[in-house]
Amino acid sequence: MSPFRYARAADVSDAVRQAQAAGSRFLGGGTNLVDLMRETVERPTALVDVTGMPADIGESADGGLVIGAAARNTAVAEHPLIRTRYPMLSRAIVAGASAQIRNMATVGGNLLQRTRCAYFYDNGGSRCNKRQPGEGCDAIDGFNRYHAILGASPSCVAVHPSDMCVALAALDAAVNVESVHGARSLPFAELHRLPGDLPQIDTCLEPGELITALVLPPLPIARHSTYRKVRDRSSYAFALISVAAALDVQDGIITDVRLALGGVAHKPWRAHEAEALIRGKPPEPAVFLAAADAELSAAQPLPGNRFKIELARRTIAAVLSELAGEQA
Ligand SMILES: Cc1cc2nc3c(=O)[nH]c(=O)nc-3n(C[C@H](O)[C@H](O)[C@H](O)COP(=O)(O)OP(=O)(O)OC[C@H]3O[C@@H](n4cnc5c(N)ncnc54)[C@H](O)[C@@H]3O)c2cc1C
Ligand code: SF4
Repeated sequence: MSPFRYARAADVSDAVRQAQAAGSRFLGGGTNLVDLMRETVERPTALVDVTGMPADIGESADGGLVIGAAARNTAVAEHPLIRTRYPMLSRAIVAGASAQIRNMATVGGNLLQRTRCAYFYDNGGSRCNKRQPGEGCDAIDGFNRYHAILGASPSCVAVHPSDMCVALAALDAAVNVESVHGARSLPFAELHRLPGDLPQIDTCLEPGELITALVLPPLPIARHSTYRKVRDRSSYAFALISVAAALDVQDGIITDVRLALGGVAHKPWRAHEAEALIRGKPPEPAVFLAAADAELSAAQPLPGNRFKIELARRTIAAVLSELAGEQA
């Protein structure tokens, strides 16, 4: 590990001021960044510890929720308002990592955790455009069981690893950020990016921008929501495919739906095309399968992950059928 300075930020202004120093990085629970530093994939010269930032979870004036970026993943998953109003979010967080890691991990850090592509971590042993732009991508002809089927590029086929973020994509959340240039809010859908020619850039944040809070809109449909993760082991494993969904059925017709997929792309994948095909239809498996087929028609699987298309299709249909059954 390379030498670095460490300082705990007193407040948000102090954090963004300290982050102006070249080579500095924010430090949440450290469960991802410190691993990357050990592997010399990341070499910050200064860490600005932001775990003392606001961690409150409270109601906003419009009936939504505001979650401080320093809130630990466990605190979010266990909060009564999250469990009752946004169960998909609670279930997504609990499906991730281990209890010990969730106790350490912060909301801000979860949003900005980096891909788990094994070649990305293998500094010195593998070629990776995300770690070393222009070097090549060993995943494309290598072990790509966990990699993307949607939105990838010839530069990078990695997927975003977060479970929590899949639920946030479905919930139309927003992210509050702040830097020395001021504060702004951006839709969650605009936080992460597809790899294109710049796979080394994961998000649309500007250098030095600190995530200060996550904002959940008031969303009655989210009370009827869930998250399902399909993985190689029943715990402590990243998603092969995951589905976050919410469904509202009135008089035998689907009035509204939210659907997002994990394990398929460089960013959490909001399934807008499938949603449009489901609204206004009866809650039947054939409807759900047809919508899944439409969403997945653009999939470009790799030799090691062709199975993901059928797995995603069946998981989408199963999760939506389960939600429909609860409202029958
Ligand atoms: C063995 C293992 C298994 C795991 N399994 C899963 C899993 O199944 N599902 C899953 O979703 N996750 C999984 N994780 C990942 C885990 O969820 C993340 O490591 C964790 O959420 C990161 O949060 P953190 O606070 O520790 O972030 P850190 O490691 O502290 O930071 C991560 C990144 O976020 C930046 N950052 C932190 N806070 C802020 C902020 N407020 N503003 C701006 N930037 C910030 C840091 O600079 C860094 O770039 C696993 C991790 C491990 C080690
Ligand atoms: S898929 Fe992306 S992260 Fe993985 S080796 Fe290729 S460029 Fe690197």
